[in-house]
Amino acid sequence: MTTLIINIKELLQVRETAKAKVSGAEMAILSTIKNAFLVIEDNLIADFGAMENLPPIHADKTIDATGKMVLPSWCDSHTHIVYAGNREQEFVDRINGLTYEEIANRGGGILNSAKKLNETTEEEIYQQSRARLEEVMRLGTGAVEIKSGYGLTVDGELKILRVIQRLAQNYPITIKATFLGAHAFPLEYKENHKGYIDLIINEMLPEITKNKLADFIDVFCETGYYSVEETQQIMEAGIQFGLKPKIHVNQFNSIGGIQAGIKYNALSVDHLEVMKPVDIEALKNTETMPVALPSCSYFLSIPYTPAREMIAAGLPLALATDYNPGSTPSGNMNFVVATACIKMKMTPEEAINAATINGAYAMGISKTHGSITIGKKANLIITKPIPSYYQIPYAFGSNLIDTVLIEGEIIS
Ligand SMILES: [Zn+2]
Repeated sequence: MTTLIINIKELLQVRETAKAKVSGAEMAILSTIKNAFLVIEDNLIADFGAMENLPPIHADKTIDATGKMVLPSWCDSHTHIVYAGNREQEFVDRINGLTYEEIANRGGGILNSAKKLNETTEEEIYQQSRARLEEVMRLGTGAVEIKSGYGLTVDGELKILRVIQRLAQNYPITIKATFLGAHAFPLEYKENHKGYIDLIINEMLPEITKNKLADFIDVFCETGYYSVEETQQIMEAGIQFGLKPKIHVNQFNSIGGIQAGIKYNALSVDHLEVMKPVDIEALKNTETMPVALPSCSYFLSIPYTPAREMIAAGLPLALATDYNPGSTPSGNMNFVVATACIKMKMTPEEAINAATINGAYAMGISKTHGSITIGKKANLIITKPIPSYYQIPYAFGSNLIDTVLIEGEIIS
């Protein structure tokens, strides 16, 4: 099956050689081809170039993209989309003056989601999550990482990871699974952290690896959640079970989580709303990708990740949604890209790099995703006719997506 896209107004994020990530000043460079074509063979990008160099091709299907942009689909490296029910009541509570921490302290927050999840059947959770996944695919996401963490029991965590596995089997979108049993402490272990960490290490991890249910291990390293020492202990156990760490750090406090993540060679450190100069310094010359989640900052009215300082220090940066029922009930990467430009002062080029190639790196898939490169997956966004790609962040409330292709197939 050969699909040919012709008359592309501008083909974005073209990379002749596969590059794993872009950092610092490189992030401002988005290589493009104006008036371009692109050839898809089965599920892969087979060729691309300027229209005047279009070779004679027998295509099974031709898409005319006159006036439209084509770019690699978004790589959303941080979500929690497998959950049960919603927390709109807490949203209203916050409007009425309660803080995220106050809601958590009275049994709301993550524990509220965990209660609902444990009471909901696996089939019902699958159905709810499937609808969210289909929505983000239509919004242009072609690869997504999904975390557990709303079970906080052996059965609940395994249930979520099996739902993630079933989604990965049934949908063409690339899905990476992360075990986040250390998302919070269940109420019965509030005074017995060791008891719950033992449960994670001795009961959850062996079952998860036996059934190949996760690629990564995650911990919410934060005051009131997991200490740096506890985070290290869990990362170490995860590594022994073959899971690479990707951790939640520096959302509300800078307590040394970034340094711990680097020590255990974490693939990514995510959130980073509160960054001290030592945190930025620690990330220099490491293989760890910093990930910002601006929709979470927006929804909770907390600081945004200081992208300008981090990029000026030569660091890479990825952007992801954090789609979850409590702090970010949105999986819209277009909004993330726009918010990164509007609130974090990232340029459109930096934001697109952060949401494609660097997002792919943060999931360990930059060899196959995140750029227009021959041999990579034909996961593409075709925009509506727009004057320039600046429109993508500029027209922040508009849906500018015309067509999404995943594995070379149009998603309807
Ligand atoms: Zn998260």
